[in-house]
Amino acid sequence: MPMASTATDDVDYPSLRFVHAPLPAGGEGAVRHPVVVVGAGPVGLSLAIDLAQQGVPVLLLDRDDRLASGSRAICFAQRTLEVFDRLGCGERFVQKGVSWQVGKVFFRDEQVYRFDLQPQAGHQRPAFVNLQQYYCEGYLVERAQQLQERLHLRWGHQVVAVEAGDDGVSLEVEAGGGRYRLQTDYLVACDGARSVVRQQLGRERAGRVFRDRFLIADVRLPQGGFPAERWFWFDPPFHPGQSVLLHSQPDGVWRVDFQLGWDADPQEAQRPEHLLPRLRALLGEQPFELEWVSVYTFACQRMERFREGRVLFAGDAAHRVSPFGARGANSGVQDADNLAWKLACVLRGEAPPALLDSYADEREQAADENIRHSSRATDFISPKSEVSRLFRQSVLELAKEHAFARTLVNSGRLSTPTWLPASPLNTPDADRFDGGLPPGAPATDAPVRACPADGSQAVPGWLLRQLPATGFTALLFGPGGMDAAALEAWQAAAHGLASLQWVVVLPAGATRRPALAGARVLLDAEGLLQERYDGRPGTLYLLRPDRHVCARWRRPEPAALRAALQRALCRA
Ligand SMILES: Cc1cc2nc3c(=O)[nH]c(=O)nc-3n(C[C@H](O)[C@H](O)[C@H](O)COP(=O)(O)OP(=O)(O)OC[C@H]3O[C@@H](n4cnc5c(N)ncnc54)[C@H](O)[C@@H]3O)c2cc1C
Repeated sequence: MPMASTATDDVDYPSLRFVHAPLPAGGEGAVRHPVVVVGAGPVGLSLAIDLAQQGVPVLLLDRDDRLASGSRAICFAQRTLEVFDRLGCGERFVQKGVSWQVGKVFFRDEQVYRFDLQPQAGHQRPAFVNLQQYYCEGYLVERAQQLQERLHLRWGHQVVAVEAGDDGVSLEVEAGGGRYRLQTDYLVACDGARSVVRQQLGRERAGRVFRDRFLIADVRLPQGGFPAERWFWFDPPFHPGQSVLLHSQPDGVWRVDFQLGWDADPQEAQRPEHLLPRLRALLGEQPFELEWVSVYTFACQRMERFREGRVLFAGDAAHRVSPFGARGANSGVQDADNLAWKLACVLRGEAPPALLDSYADEREQAADENIRHSSRATDFISPKSEVSRLFRQSVLELAKEHAFARTLVNSGRLSTPTWLPASPLNTPDADRFDGGLPPGAPATDAPVRACPADGSQAVPGWLLRQLPATGFTALLFGPGGMDAAALEAWQAAAHGLASLQWVVVLPAGATRRPALAGARVLLDAEGLLQERYDGRPGTLYLLRPDRHVCARWRRPEPAALRAALQRALCRA
């Protein structure tokens, strides 16, 4: 139920309407697209941008002509921001969003503990930014528009039928009062929780549907109100017997999420006579304006397989979780991050279609992890038996004094990137490492100074911003193991497999530059890279295009590098 619009940007994102793309005159004829993506939500947009950045022509269809509205995602995690950086639009999210890292948990009227999601300094991006989903989608659409040579976005085009064959996929699309057919090599369904593509293929999601209702009220507080922190109450005096979650958003808006219980009447709960006293009890007498009110329920479910031949599923179409933990859009963007490079490699002929099975395997594992966290949080927030309610009360009473009890309190474990230690694309460690990032780990950030190719003075920056936006990265720690002959042999070993950018890390004070043609050279500004990667001189990390580690060595051999690349491309 929309109340008032207070977007303060020049662009009024919540009210934006996009021009419907015309129906292709005479249909599409013999045109066959390499990839069609259905759904321009956060996941479909991220995937389409990524594919276009990698040189793959992509057609993106959305049945609607507007951005998400109402009670949808607000918390975007560090990993998502890093992916958006790679896609060329992360800065806007951070500029506009409310950065936060501290959460507080209250039981009745007492704080039982506080947590910090980023106690360690030396990362460019904050643990989280809060930002309304319409800004997220709006910024992605703007980035997509910069890539329109390869990325074609058709608003107002609804997929109504899908036929998947061994050689390709055929779609029927409704637009502007007519219908046309489309042919594509690969179809990616990012069409959300009620996915038509999924239904057309006769596939469903399995899992648990939770019997509880939550009321969201987005309120604008002209006088401010609360710090930029996540506050969660169990059984507070202003909403006894239930839970309440509070989050800050841009434009002076706060999201209040009231647990209602399964028996609550969703329509009644939104009526002013019920809603306003609830809000007053939390906000006191300060003035406020309602932006949005709605009631939601949720389920934790996933499809059995995220790949069905030439059809791939990502985001809410493939899996759903509760909002506690902010794992919906954040995990969907990781799906897109994982899939885009694999699809691009398959379409370029650098990898066999079997590489796409690794997308399904890896992201199904991620969905299980997210569903596990989400279900546990929901069971704690919404205990369904007297025994679980008593257990929760005891844990909350003990949590203030005892650290062990704090580990049992669960108001939602917030989204983190999935590690992929069991991925078949990894080359297991053969050398000894004392920490660092094992195969499957997502690359972590650190401050650097980037040495320009023209030899001018190094400029401050961040590791992840210095890595290539597409392709594999060979991250080599110098100055050891960098004689010209070795470097040439390594470069030759990787030749012809896939795009590989060399990035050399040198100690902060190093003056000698490596003789490695085309390599980017970074100085380890605060020694954190060496520490976080256990990067002794001579160490080489191989990063996938989605920046997961897939191999690392102390003294790499050219043949080992080639074999690891082949393995990561499923060509072993
Ligand atoms: C109350 C609430 C709070 C949330 N908070 C968070 C949070 O803080 N952080 C977080 O990460 N997630 C959160 N989520 C989850 C998040 O909103 C979703 O996970 C996210 O929107 C999924 O993105 P998607 O692109 O997969 O699907 P969607 O956003 O649903 O997009 C699907 C797109 O497909 C289009 N489409 C559908 N059918 C067709 C068709 N047949 N043809 C063409 N186009 C079609 C739709 O128009 C839509 O644009 C929250 C959800 C709720 C309900």
